[in-house]
Amino acid sequence: MSNETIFTKIINREIPADIVYEDELSLAFKDINPQAPTHLLIIPKQPIATINDITETDREVVGHLHFVAGKIAKELGVDAQGYRVVMNCNEYGGQTVFHIHLHFLAGKPMGWPPYTEKLKA
Ligand code: AMP
Repeated sequence: MSNETIFTKIINREIPADIVYEDELSLAFKDINPQAPTHLLIIPKQPIATINDITETDREVVGHLHFVAGKIAKELGVDAQGYRVVMNCNEYGGQTVFHIHLHFLAGKPMGWPPYTEKLKA
């Protein structure tokens, strides 16, 4: 099964995205449907479908995503004010794109808990 998602196409510049950061391991771009004044997605260039698929050899790249989040926060000047990073996994986590990505949300106070329960009819 191919690991290719829309994010692979963004990495390969096959579809447009508003890219704000790039290095050898990762890419960060603006979410197309922002849930905060600043909503970025920080992704590894290497496709990993879900958190469940992270292996021992992926440890560096997965840790790197958090390093990039902190770097971007400082660059944007939101580091002291605060922000949220979150990674969704599979159906109950609300994952829709199966290439792991760190959501970076900033620019407004975040609520907790972060979910809305779906009530049964
Ligand atoms: P998740 O639901 O955690 O898998 O998050 C997927 C995110 O990708 C959603 O917040 C979408 O708005 C975002 N997204 C989907 N397609 C694109 C795209 N082409 N460019 C930027 N963001 C996208």
